[in-house]
Amino acid sequence: MKLLGRSRAERQSIVHYVEETGVHSLLHYAELLDHTLLEELEWLARQLKGVNIAHVNATANGGGVAEILHSMLPLYHGLGIDASWLVLRGDDSFFNVTKQMHNCLQGGACGLTDADWDMHAAWNKYNAEFLDSTYDAIIVHDPQPVALREFAPNAAEKWVWRSHIDTSAPDPNSWARLSGLVHNFDAAVFSLPEFAGPGLNGLFIDVMPPAIDPFVPKNVVMPESEALSIVARYGIDPQRPFITQVSRFDPWKDPLGVIECFRRLKPDNPELQLAMLGNFADDDPEGRVMYDKVVVAAQGTPDVHIILGLTDLVGPFQQMSTVVLQKSLKEGFGLTATEALWKSTPVIAGNVGGLRLQVSDGVGGYLVDSVDECAERVDFLINHNAEREALGAAGKEHVRTHFLLPRLLRDEMRLLHQLLNSNGHSARQWTPDQTNSTRELAG
Ligand code: UDP
Repeated sequence: MKLLGRSRAERQSIVHYVEETGVHSLLHYAELLDHTLLEELEWLARQLKGVNIAHVNATANGGGVAEILHSMLPLYHGLGIDASWLVLRGDDSFFNVTKQMHNCLQGGACGLTDADWDMHAAWNKYNAEFLDSTYDAIIVHDPQPVALREFAPNAAEKWVWRSHIDTSAPDPNSWARLSGLVHNFDAAVFSLPEFAGPGLNGLFIDVMPPAIDPFVPKNVVMPESEALSIVARYGIDPQRPFITQVSRFDPWKDPLGVIECFRRLKPDNPELQLAMLGNFADDDPEGRVMYDKVVVAAQGTPDVHIILGLTDLVGPFQQMSTVVLQKSLKEGFGLTATEALWKSTPVIAGNVGGLRLQVSDGVGGYLVDSVDECAERVDFLINHNAEREALGAAGKEHVRTHFLLPRLLRDEMRLLHQLLNSNGHSARQWTPDQTNSTRELAG
C-alpha cells in the first residue's frame, strides 16, 4: 500500500482523538435510576482513580458504537476518569474488507482471501504506529482494529476486545482467524453469551448488552405537536398513522423485507404511511448499493418515505410512529429498538440477537420470523390501541431498568477494575455499605 511507504513525518496522524466528547455528570440520572447503581459507579471511579483508558473503533459517525461512545466518554470524564476515544483510519479497500469480515462473522456468504487479511493486518500495523501514549487499558471495538494489539502490545497494560456483532454462527475460517487474534487479549466482551464462538478457551469472557443515553436530543421525548410538525416537514401526513424503521442501509437490517411488509399491510390499512430513515456509516461501503435497491423496491408503492441522514430528528419519528420496525435478520443489539421503546412506542423486531433481549411477548412488542408475521403483528397493533399502549409502557420500563447508559458504564468499569486491580486474585467487589461519598448524587 502506498501510504505504508511514506515516512512517518509525512503522514497525517492516523489514529486521532475525537475531541468533542465533553463532560457529563451522573447527577442527571438521579431521578431516573436506582441509587445503588449510581453509588456503585462512584465507588468504581474511586477504585479506578488515576487510570487512563482508550476506546478504539472504526468510525466517529454512524452506527451504534459511535452513538454509545459519544455519550459514554463524557460520563467517564464526569467520574474523573481519563478516557480517550481513538478512531482507526483506513482507505476504501480496507473498509470493503472489514465490511466483508463483518458479514462473514455474522454467518453471511464469505469470500475473504489471504490478501484481504494481509491488508487488514497492514492497516492495523500502520495505525498501531500512532499509538504513542500508553494506557492502562485499551478497549478495541469490533473486527476493524482487532489486530492493533499484535502491532502495539506495549501501548496498554490490558487489552479488551469488545464485539458488537452476532458471532453465534460465523464462517469457520473467518472465526478461526479472528479468534486467533482475540486470544491474545486479556478479555473479550460480547452483547449476548451465545455470541462468543469456539476457540476462546482460557480467555476471560464478559457479557454486556449495549445501552442508550436518554439525554441526547434524539431520545428526549418532546411535546406531540412539536414532534408531529417535524415529521410533517419530511413529508409524513401528521393526520394519518405511520410506521418507521431507522437503520443503516444494510441487508442484515432487511429494508426490503420492511417494504414488503408495508405492501402487505396497505390494502387493509390504506391510510398507513412508512418512514424509512437511513444513514451511511463511514466504515460501511455497502450502504449506497443497498440504498439504491431500497429506492427501486419502493417504486410503485404509495406513501413510502425514504429519508436520509437524520440523527437527532430520528427521535420524533420513533416517538410518533404507531409502531416501530426493526426487522433485522441478524442484529448484535439494535439500539434503534431501545430508542423507540424509550419513547413508549412498541417495536416489531426480527427474532434475532440482541433484539430478543429487548422485546418479548407482553413487553415492548413482538418478535417475528417472516414478512407475513411482521405484517400480521403490525396490523394487530395499529388496530388495538390498548394492547399497543400496554406494550409500549412495559417496553419503556424495561429500557429504564436494563438499557440505560449507567448500567453499561458500570459493567465496563467492573471489568476494568477486575483487570487492573486484581493482582492475580478476584478484585474487591462493591457492596452497598461501602458507599460514603454519594450523598449529593443520591440527593
Ligand atoms: N441512526 C441515525 N439515523 C439514521 C439511522 C440510524 O441516527 O438514519 C442511529 C440510530 O438512531 C442508532 C444507531 O444509528 O442510534 C444505529 O445503531 P444500531 O445498534 O441500531 O445499529 P448498527 O448501525 O450499530 O448496526
